[in-house]
Parts: sequence; C-alpha cells; structure tokens
Amino acid sequence: MAEFTLELNDDQKQVKDWLHGFAADVIRPAASEWDEREETPWPVIQEAAKVGIYSLDFYAQQFFDPTGLGIPMAMEELFWGDAGIALSIVGTGLAAVGVLANGTEEQIGTWIPQMYGDADDVKVAAFCSSEPDAGSDVASMRTRAVYDAAKDEWVLNGTKTWATNGGIANVHVVVAVVDPDIGSKGHASFIVPPDTPGLSQGQKFKKHGIRASHTAEVVLEDVRVPGHCLLGGKEKLDERLARARERAKSGGERVKNAAMATFEASRPAVGAMAVGTARAAYEVALDYAKTRSQFGRPIIDNQGIAFQLADMRTRIDAARLLVWRASWMATTGKPFTSAEGSMSKLYASETARDVTAQAIQILGGNGFTREYPVERMHRDAAIYTIFEGTSEIQRLVIARTLSGMPIR
Ligand SMILES: Cc1cc2nc3c(=O)[nH]c(=O)nc-3n(C[C@H](O)[C@H](O)[C@H](O)COP(=O)(O)OP(=O)(O)OC[C@H]3O[C@@H](n4cnc5c(N)ncnc54)[C@H](O)[C@@H]3O)c2cc1C
Repeated sequence: MAEFTLELNDDQKQVKDWLHGFAADVIRPAASEWDEREETPWPVIQEAAKVGIYSLDFYAQQFFDPTGLGIPMAMEELFWGDAGIALSIVGTGLAAVGVLANGTEEQIGTWIPQMYGDADDVKVAAFCSSEPDAGSDVASMRTRAVYDAAKDEWVLNGTKTWATNGGIANVHVVVAVVDPDIGSKGHASFIVPPDTPGLSQGQKFKKHGIRASHTAEVVLEDVRVPGHCLLGGKEKLDERLARARERAKSGGERVKNAAMATFEASRPAVGAMAVGTARAAYEVALDYAKTRSQFGRPIIDNQGIAFQLADMRTRIDAARLLVWRASWMATTGKPFTSAEGSMSKLYASETARDVTAQAIQILGGNGFTREYPVERMHRDAAIYTIFEGTSEIQRLVIARTLSGMPIR
C-alpha cells in the first residue's frame, strides 16, 4: 500500500518540467498570434509532434500513470502555456479516447495512428457528438445511422455542431442514433475515414476565446462507412442494445451508471486545463502587483490587492486538489459516490473564470488591452464552464448523485 503523498515522483517532475519548458518556450510566445489569426496553429502542433508531445504514446504514458496524476499534470502545464493552442494539441485526444473506450484492438491500431499522422505530416481528429438541438440534452440527438445489410455499410445523416477540429480532421468520430426508442442508450459511435464522400464542414465559428482551436459544424449527407467502422463491432452493439431494451423496461439503472462513471473519469482533465489557465493569469497578476506602483508604493502593498491574490491562489490550489483527487479515484477504480469528477470540473472551471477576471482588474487598464495576456486568458477561461458539460449540468449531476433523486 503506497503512503499518502501529494509530492510528484521523479519521473513526474521530469515530465512536468519538460512540458513546462515547451509551454513557456513554444506555446506561450505563439499565443497572441494564433488567437488573432483564429486558425489552427499547425506549425506548433508539428513542433509538439517532433518532440513527442503530440502522439498517442505520450497520452497513453500519462494515462497509465498509476497515481492518476499524469493527465492532470500534463493538461495544467500545456494550458498554462495557452488554452487555444493547447486545445489544438490535445483536441485529437478526445476522438482518440472515443476509439480507445469503445473500439476493438484492430480499430484502435488502424485509426488512432491516422488521427495523429506523423511529425512530417501532422493530422488532427474530431469527436462529433453535440448537435444544434442536442447540447446538454444528449438524448435528443437526431443524427441517424442506418445499417445497410446488403452492403455491410452504415449510412449516416445529420448535422453535428461545435466539433473541435470538425471538417479539418483526418478522422471524425461521430455519435449517431441507431435505435431512437431507447434514448442515449440507442447511440453508437462510428469512424468516418479520411475523404469519405458526404461529410463536409459547415460553418466555422468565430469565437470569444480559445480562438486558435478550430470549432465547426460537420454536415453528414448519406455518408456511407464500412461495417467495420462501427466502434466495438455489430455483435457487441446488438448485445448492448438488447440489454438496454430489457433494462429500459425495468428502470435502466446499470447502463446509466456506466455512462456516468465515464464522464466522472474524463471531467477532471478539463478541470486541469482550467487550473492551467487560472494559474497563468494569477502569475501575471502577482508579478504585476509587485512591480506596478501607484501612490508611491507597489499596488500589492494594498490589502485590497493582496487579499485578492491570496484568494486567487487559494482557489487555484483547492481546484487542483479536487482535480487530483478525482483523477486518482478514476485511476485506482474508486467509485464516484459524490460525483467527485463533476465537482472538480465545476470548481476548477468557475475558478478559472473568476481568477482571470480578477487578474484583469489587478492589471487595470493594461489588463483590458491585448498588450497583456490576461485579457485573452479571461476570454479563453469562459469555455471551461460550457464544454464537457456546463456548470449547471455539473451541479445537476452532483445534486442527483448526492440525493439519489431525479432532480431536474
Ligand atoms: C469551443 C467549443 C468546443 C466544443 N467542442 C466539442 C466537441 O469537440 N465535440 C462535441 O461533441 N461538442 C463540443 N462542444 C459542445 C459543448 O459540449 C456544448 O456546447 C455543451 O455541452 C452545451 O450544450 P449547448 O451549447 O447546446 O447548451 P444548452 O444545452 O442549450 O444549454 C444552454 C444553457 O442552459 C443550461 N441548461 C441546459 N439544461 C439545463 C438543466 N437541465 N438545468 C439547468 N440548466 C440547464 C446550460 O447549462 C446553459 O447555461 C464544444 C463547444 C464549444 C463552445
């Protein structure tokens, strides 16, 4: 039994320093340019691929860190550098996790390498679940997948929205309805291989923040994919659907809990991204407060400023501890009896939003301009309370878990 410790081991410290160096030397200096351009920072992704940060191997290594801290540590450092660029680097991971979670070994081996490409020809991947009328309410998804048994092909039709890397991805992972009678339990995930006819990019969104990350609609018109593109395979799907139909008749508890456990395990990673952005803004504000003088003394000499910084730092550390706890629970298989994953994402995302706003206030007029990075960090931080489940949905999940009640 390992002793309780919050200290990173030597390997973790080494990886953290390496990532911090990349974030400081490569990501941060490019942040303003790509935010203004609102384009995918391909050269930075390529740099990340060259040094081994943009690869499945890297994420797998962090994911299998037995303490659970590999992924949160990596996310915090990369997003400390810049949220938009970091999302461009880790966005492919969202689609890769979709394949890792549901795919067969053959599917994992075939598609994940194509998601990343290689350092000379980097590719990205997209995970497409959200739709114009199905955001928080995933069960109301309408994109349909119909099996054409004669050709052993699935035919996909529908419109996905808000897809990170949507339309520019080499491989798209698309969630679609295969049985509309059993809500979200009738969904399945499909690989749409490169250059498949019928898949096109709809509008690319002009965003408030994380503007270096590409977000777009994905339109699917009679997209035909081979049977082997159904993640997990047809036999497994048929069994799962049969079980879900049975359970739907008798309450559906176990299936619901399995889906919930997956979210609880993935949400701390978003919490860690938020901690990275919050920490970055706090550091700029602390430095500024020590060097900016008004009324003949550094502004940090005023309790009004110093106490804000004390609160900012306290919240950031508390957020990190919640993220680490949830990540440790996920890795060590502890049950999320109080929705601890959702708690960590809720608290960290709201911390990032508030801390970055306070940082602007501490920098005064400079904070409001694009000469200083806190303005961008505050715009970026707004995403954390929205994607991977809004703050309201996190509260809903926590409240339902604590009470056992169907709170709406
Ligand atoms: C930049 C960006 C990148 C994204 N990337 C991806 C991606 O790669 N793949 C993907 O599939 N999706 C992605 N999303 C979609 C994202 O997950 C959704 O935006 C999010 O789930 C919220 O859905 P919605 O926007 O439809 O909001 P809605 O669900 O319409 O919610 C609107 C408001 O109502 C509140 N609300 C809704 N239901 C309730 C309730 N029951 N109780 C209380 N309040 C409620 C919400 O909290 C929110 O404040 C991305 C979104 C953005 C903005």
